[in-house]
Amino acid sequence: MGGTTRYVDDDFMIEEIHGRLILDSRGNPTVEVDVITVGGAIGRAAAPAGKSRGRYEAVELRDLDKSKYRGMSVYKAVEIINNDIASLLEGMDCREQEAIDRTMIEYDGTPNKSKLGANTMVATSLAVAKAAAEMYGLPLFMYIGGINARVLPVPIMNILNGGKHAGNELSIQEFMIIPVNADSFSEALRIGVEIYHTLRDFLTEKYGKIAVNVGDEGGFAPPMRQTREALDALMKAIDMAGYSEEDAKLGLDCAASTFFDARTKRYFLDGKELSEEELMDFYLTLLKEYPIIYLEDPFEEEAFETFSLLTRETKGVLVVGDDLFVTNPKRFRIGIEKGACNAILVKVNQIGTLTETMEVIDLAKTNGYRAVISHRSGETEDSTIADLAVGFSTGLIKTGAPARGERTAKYNQLLRIEEYLGDAARFLGIKAFK
Ligand code: PEP
Ligand code: MG
Repeated sequence: MGGTTRYVDDDFMIEEIHGRLILDSRGNPTVEVDVITVGGAIGRAAAPAGKSRGRYEAVELRDLDKSKYRGMSVYKAVEIINNDIASLLEGMDCREQEAIDRTMIEYDGTPNKSKLGANTMVATSLAVAKAAAEMYGLPLFMYIGGINARVLPVPIMNILNGGKHAGNELSIQEFMIIPVNADSFSEALRIGVEIYHTLRDFLTEKYGKIAVNVGDEGGFAPPMRQTREALDALMKAIDMAGYSEEDAKLGLDCAASTFFDARTKRYFLDGKELSEEELMDFYLTLLKEYPIIYLEDPFEEEAFETFSLLTRETKGVLVVGDDLFVTNPKRFRIGIEKGACNAILVKVNQIGTLTETMEVIDLAKTNGYRAVISHRSGETEDSTIADLAVGFSTGLIKTGAPARGERTAKYNQLLRIEEYLGDAARFLGIKAFK
């Protein structure tokens, strides 16, 4: 190959790592990291924060000092970035993603990242990749996936919120629409937006203005109590917007650990106490009644066997492990062995580094699982996950309602990527679920 080298290697060297405290979409502190190279590139990334967190997620460092930000401050995490992480990584080559991530993992030395904190690590790890991309003059998705990165994801849009993300009494956390009948991401997004606004009209008319206040992920949080009531509202909105169940399918994130009692082994759903078998029957009935093609965390986070049973019982449905797998290769391997699901939710901050996230996505691809790149309920303006979805060609993204700046930041970045790719852009629609 001919051509000239654009940079000497020293330019890729990390000159400085700088952390700071910023606020997330719930008004809680989080960390942001700048990675600056000798060649002058700046990669910047911020850590998101979950609320319905899995028990096995990597640990998020917080100061727990009640006198500051009510215990939520991250001053210690910022100090760790500016001292420990900076001295570990400064001088390393920003292209050496794996070596950089492994250096942090080894220094941390704990199974759950409790020394350095997954929030410090995730922001650093992603900022490193962004600095390298900038050094090459490439958009992040291309730095990750090269010319093969051209699949725009189907948006799985959480437009009605319940559970821990809303102040209503719905047990199930997320009621999602999935616009599959489109030729492009932008068309799918438009369909989703139209249904979202139509849902607002429907809810206002039926329940009054109070019903269209939004939850943490931008979906409406109406005063409902029953799963079917929420699903019926979505079906109504799809119809009123001029679409059919061929155009937009439905998805649920049950986040079932949040309504499971470990002592009695019962689930508290819609005002009723259910056994595992009764909950299974409930889901199987819903799948017959509604065009649901996505079911996340239908059972609590230890119920590998019950997940397997549901996956075997259903066809044409993605059974997705979030709290079950927590983007952890070890837990994911157990799930693969047991046939627990057929898809995994991928949240970089659940595990802490881009390298381990890549390992999980590789495992998914080689074992017939779909990978769904996901936001957290606490987000920032950082839109990195949009680039990850395209860079890793997952074909699927879950990033909330098309409202609230921290959610639209991801959708808008996907629109920019689609525009950048032009005719090369691909959109899988329903095929992304096969
Ligand atoms: C989820 O459970 O999929 C989710 C995005 O919520 P949180 O970030 O609160 O875990
Ligand atoms: Mg979830």
